[in-house]
Amino acid sequence: MDLELLERSLAERDQPSYRAAQVWEWAARGATAYAEMSNLPLDLRRVLEAEVPFSSLALRRSARARDGTEKALFATADRRPVETVLMRYRDGRRSLCLSSQSGCPLTCTFCATGSMRFGRNLSASEILDQALHFRRSAPVNQAVFMGMGEPLMNLDSVLAACERLPDLGIATSHTTISTVGWLPGIERLAGEGPRVRLALSLHAADDALRSELMPVNDRYPLADVLEACRGWRAARRRRVYVEYLMLGGVNDRRGQALALAAVLTPAEAFKVNLIPYNPTGGPFHGSPPKAIDDFRRTLIERGLPATVRLTRGRDIAAACGQLAATEAAAAR
Ligand code: SAH
Repeated sequence: MDLELLERSLAERDQPSYRAAQVWEWAARGATAYAEMSNLPLDLRRVLEAEVPFSSLALRRSARARDGTEKALFATADRRPVETVLMRYRDGRRSLCLSSQSGCPLTCTFCATGSMRFGRNLSASEILDQALHFRRSAPVNQAVFMGMGEPLMNLDSVLAACERLPDLGIATSHTTISTVGWLPGIERLAGEGPRVRLALSLHAADDALRSELMPVNDRYPLADVLEACRGWRAARRRRVYVEYLMLGGVNDRRGQALALAAVLTPAEAFKVNLIPYNPTGGPFHGSPPKAIDDFRRTLIERGLPATVRLTRGRDIAAACGQLAATEAAAAR
C-alpha cells in the first residue's frame, strides 16, 4: 500500500499518529483487507478502503514452476510491469526475489531484463507490496534484490523498503542487495542504512571482457569497484558475495578462475557463487556442469570459498536473468 498516501489520509482525518503503524502492522503480518483490522474504528476502515488502495500493485499473472517457485507479474498504477519471484527450499527457507525498478537501464548482454524498455524506479511501497503479496499466502524469511533493475540506482527506496522487511519476518541479515558494481551506491551502503548483505555481479576478472559483457564496467571499472567492496567490508564487517555467471567458452577457463582468485583479495573478504546461465535468447550458452565444477575447485584450491547456485524456476522463466515482462502484459 502507498504508505505516504496512507499517512496523508490519516492526517486529513485527524487520526492519532499511531494509526499508520497499526495499519502497517496488520499488512506486514499478512492481512488481506482493511476489514480485518479489528483495532481500527469501522468507519475508518471504510474510509481507507475507499481512499487508499490496499496494494500499489495489481496482480496481472502468476505462474508456478515444477520446483515450487512462483512468479508474479504486477502492474503499477501507471501500468509499468514488475516481476517478483518466490523460491521455496526444502530446508524451509522462503526467499523473495524483489525488483527495484521496472525494467533496467543497464544493458548487460546476458540478461533479459536489460533488453526490455526501462520504465522507472519503484517506490519503497511498490517494493514492499511485492513482498506483501507473497506474505499474504505464507511466511517469508529471506529477500534478495535480484529481480528487475539495479537496486543501487534506486537506493533511497530500496533502503526504505529494507527498513520495513523485518516486520514481515525477513531479518536484515537475511536481506541481500545485488549490484552490477554501481560504485556510488556501494560507498553509500558502507555508511548508511540497515546492515544488509552485499552481492556483486562480477562475471569477469578482467576489464576488457567485463566491459563487453556489462557496459557499466566502462563507467565503474573493476579495480575501483573491488576497492569499494573492500571499503564496505571494512565498515560492515561482512564478506561480499561475488556472483559469477558461467558462460561456455567465454569466462569459464581455468586461467580465468586463476585470474578471478588473483583479483579477489584478501580471499576472506569474498565468497564466490557460480551461477549456471539461464537461456535468455542471447548468443550465450551455459558452461557444462564439469566446467563449472572445475572452476569451483580451482577457486577453492586458491583459498577462495566458492559454491554453485541452485537454479530455480527455469520452466516459467523465473530464474536469474529471465525477468522481462512486456508492457503489454502489464497493461491488460
Ligand atoms: N542489477 C543487479 C540486480 C539483478 S540481480 C545485479 O546485476 O546484480 C540478477 C542476477 O542474475 C545478477 O547476478 C545477474 O548477473 C544474474 N543474471 C543475469 N542474467 C542471467 C542469466 N541469463 N542467467 C543466470 N543469471 C543471470
